[in-house]
Amino acid sequence: MASIPKAAPQPIPRIAPREDLNPLRIAQIQFDIAAEYLKLDPGIRQILRTPKRVLEVSVPTKMDNGQIKVFTGYRVQHNVSRGPAKGGLRYHPNVTLDEVKALATWMTWKTATVNIPYGGGKGGVICDPKRMTKSELERMTRRYTSEILPLIGPEQDIPAPDVYTDAQTMAWIMDTYSMTKGYSALGVVTGKPLSIGGSEGRTEATARGCVVATEEACKTKKMSLRGATVAIQGFGNVGSLAARLFTEKKARVVAISDSRGGVFNSRGIDPLKAMRYKERSGTVVGMPGTSRISNDDLLTMKCDILVPAALENVITLNNVEQIKAKMVVEGANGPTTPHADEVLARKGILLLPDILANAGGVTVSYFEWVQDLQSFFWSEAEVNTKLESVMRRAFQQVHDMARKHRAHLRTGAYVLAVGRVADATLVRGLFP
Ligand code: GLU
Repeated sequence: MASIPKAAPQPIPRIAPREDLNPLRIAQIQFDIAAEYLKLDPGIRQILRTPKRVLEVSVPTKMDNGQIKVFTGYRVQHNVSRGPAKGGLRYHPNVTLDEVKALATWMTWKTATVNIPYGGGKGGVICDPKRMTKSELERMTRRYTSEILPLIGPEQDIPAPDVYTDAQTMAWIMDTYSMTKGYSALGVVTGKPLSIGGSEGRTEATARGCVVATEEACKTKKMSLRGATVAIQGFGNVGSLAARLFTEKKARVVAISDSRGGVFNSRGIDPLKAMRYKERSGTVVGMPGTSRISNDDLLTMKCDILVPAALENVITLNNVEQIKAKMVVEGANGPTTPHADEVLARKGILLLPDILANAGGVTVSYFEWVQDLQSFFWSEAEVNTKLESVMRRAFQQVHDMARKHRAHLRTGAYVLAVGRVADATLVRGLFP
């Protein structure tokens, strides 16, 4: 077996006294902790700390008023040792290259945690989708797709929805790619509409995975999900569907929020009514029968299960001492900083890490891709059963790994995932 040449040892970064909220630095700190547990060779550490491939593109787009606006977009492939790069595409004004690199890195660990044959990738475009029309979004998406064409493909890199992108966005990408190739390539993106090779169960897969992982965590804490109070920060795809699925399990969703603020009702909020209200008003704020709270109130309120399901860095040194939940379930990517992790552990709050808790989405993306490549489609029940078994097995393996190292679940997941990727890298050896 070829061996990876040794590089000079890298100093383990000490966490700065003032918290560094750069997501890439955070992703690297998390990786370094796992690398220490695994006693990884310095050379392999260097390989896995940095993305394999980074592309920055200009996306000139004709706006509805006839003027041209040039957006900046990125596609990052962090690692492809275990299979094609896989990960979402984000539209947000605060997208940065470091954020996309961090998100791509987290995808590598996520696909390895649930043991599906992918690497990790991510894309982003700096834009404000809430202030763009559907036709502007379509033109921007198609031009972005054509700019990243050399990187994507069913065997190379497979985008999917993320913050403020959805099935329609995926349909435009699939069409742009297919028109360029001259044939319909279903497997180039996942999270597509059902009519063009999407999978049953994909839309709610991230939320369903979260709930299944929470059920498993409840068993270890001898806690009942039935009757448990749940607070959900973020009411997009993950937050809103998690609210529905938690309610179906007879948990009580007492607070929800979005970027404009939150609402609370101690007797429980009807998730379907909240979804309908948000569709009409653009926010959950003002929903009848609820009282208004802020996002900060929601994060620090007394509840059994807190689900951050929006963006990064919401549980930080600024508020972690005030967190009163018994369990934190990371529906979002990167909501908790490494400093906050330590405080949560000290306070005895169980944290279900993002690379496990929200891995249901990419798991059903994998099922979608398999169905596309085989042109043979499964029922919703089949998808959900397979998703559940992947999530329960992954939880068990993460839990066992954490116990083995007397560490918390994030470390358990990282040691499992980084170990799998490092094994794949080592056994393949270094090219040339
Ligand atoms: N954007 C989702 C995530 O962060 C889904 C990625 C995918 O399905 O490829 O996991």
